[in-house]
Amino acid sequence: MIVVLADGTEVKRCPHCDDYRPVAEFSRSSTSEDGLQERCRAYHHERYLKSQEARRKHGREYYKAHQQERLEYGRRYYIQHREERLAYARKHCREQRAQLDADQRSSE
Ligand SMILES: [Zn+2]
Repeated sequence: MIVVLADGTEVKRCPHCDDYRPVAEFSRSSTSEDGLQERCRAYHHERYLKSQEARRKHGREYYKAHQQERLEYGRRYYIQHREERLAYARKHCREQRAQLDADQRSSE
């Protein structure tokens, strides 16, 4: 509800600030009776900043989740290509293993 002060200033009570504020501090609203938002711009700005912070936090969490996904993918790749890695290791260790076997045989 808009109140007109003695000096002609139109004010409206903001339930968030719990105080009367000039109507200029309220954004327009087509759905309200007086054509103004229920709460002042400061409230909406504050809420906007809070939601922005929440979005940033959400972004960080999404990044972390995505990072976890990438780690999982890496682990799956590691497991799926286990045979390849073993074959590679076998091929390159064949000589050393043959040498080790020969050493063990000679010590028996
Ligand atoms: Zn306010």
